[in-house]
Amino acid sequence: MAEEAEKEITTFEDFKLNKQLLNAIDEAGYQKPTPIQLQAIPLIMAGHDLLGIAQTGTGKTAAFLLPLLMKVKYAQGHNPRALIIAPTRELVMQIEENITLLAKYTDLRHTAIYGGLGPKTQIETIKNGIDILVATPKRLLELYLKGDLILKELKTLILDEADKMMDMGFMPQIRKLLEVIPRKRQNLLFSATMPDKVVELSEEFLEFPTRVEVTPQATPVDTVSQTLYQVPNLRTKIELLEHLIQDTETFKRVIIFTRSKKNAESVSRFLEHRNYGEVRAIHGNKGQNTRINSMEAFKGGEVRFLVATDVAARGIDVSMVSHVINFDVPLIYEDYVHRIGRTGRAEQLGAAITFANDIELYHIRKIEKLIRMQLNKVPMPAEVKVFETPFEEQQEMAMELDRQKRRDDPDFKGAFHEKKSRHKSNFEKGKKTGDPKKSGWQKTKKKGSRKK
Ligand code: AMP
Repeated sequence: MAEEAEKEITTFEDFKLNKQLLNAIDEAGYQKPTPIQLQAIPLIMAGHDLLGIAQTGTGKTAAFLLPLLMKVKYAQGHNPRALIIAPTRELVMQIEENITLLAKYTDLRHTAIYGGLGPKTQIETIKNGIDILVATPKRLLELYLKGDLILKELKTLILDEADKMMDMGFMPQIRKLLEVIPRKRQNLLFSATMPDKVVELSEEFLEFPTRVEVTPQATPVDTVSQTLYQVPNLRTKIELLEHLIQDTETFKRVIIFTRSKKNAESVSRFLEHRNYGEVRAIHGNKGQNTRINSMEAFKGGEVRFLVATDVAARGIDVSMVSHVINFDVPLIYEDYVHRIGRTGRAEQLGAAITFANDIELYHIRKIEKLIRMQLNKVPMPAEVKVFETPFEEQQEMAMELDRQKRRDDPDFKGAFHEKKSRHKSNFEKGKKTGDPKKSGWQKTKKKGSRKK
């Protein structure tokens, strides 16, 4: 007996999941539990509150869904007994898809609610009776406040990607919800990183939690080659992009990541005008249906380029991506790993190409530290025309570096002085960060270019 109790868990059967779930797992093709699943599933099944530090790609969704599905078991009553909150529509949809997959042989009723679509159908589904609800914070609160949602029977609450949730400013909505839902419940919080805000939230939200952590997937898959081009500005980035994608043989299905909606729009419009193949852009300003259609078309192979911001790209699960191009360097460094994880999936060879301007090189160094690897720096192809950096862009870049440094290091000495004379010092700083010897484009910048 003692031997039995000590038996190490290595398979899904060892979790003592029910038959319906084991069948679904089998059909999903999961052969053995991932590390986060091995750690988290027994704890959640034992009823603990849990703080899970794990990123997308680690199998964290099934890590919380399987014990949840065991607990909720079968359709019962009218109102949701479990609630999963996630920051974006894409992620909410992805979680819901996972539930559909894993709850296939149960009669559980589940749905996803999110903004961007009228709430009518969502309300109707809820009214017909629901066991598990997946939601973005805003839409959830909206339906609750309108009286369309009764939360008093909740027994489990899961917050997924809590760091992103805090970044996106959802704390007020989460606080309001915590006030109205039953106190006696099991709470799970998952986050890729643990900034102070998430620590604070976990203290408020979890009761005597057990913490499980899987080493951040900071080692990108070794089937992905990682190249870095130093590119001085937006205009030149576009030139380089255009140069690279001429190679239609290798650049078959490409995701281009930009930091802002504005850049996503500029890049996709450019590609559309030049007719290099079908292009879709997904970012926060795109309607929900447009985003879904774009994703489907890209997955289906009808679209050559998907231009995306990090937030919109959370939860994208597309295989066979030939290239990920980081048109801008992500400021949340883990996003770099997320982004390049889109290529080289399932043993396929993939390529990640990053464009970094002088200011972004600062972040590249940090990313290299995180992934414990050096990107392969390659020179700008001779055919690519290098443009001068316009004054405004210079300034934007310099201010960005300043912000980032201050966020990283609260004792950052420059901040106070720079605040006092922001215009001048930011610009000067931008100039100084480039090493004119190394970067040819710095030479093209005229000294007097700031006087317009
Ligand atoms: P997640 O980290 O939850 O976003 O999961 C990443 C991907 O891994 C999803 O496509 C899941 O379907 C898949 N997955 C989850 N658990 C397993 C497992 N045990 N074995 C193989 N794939 C899995």
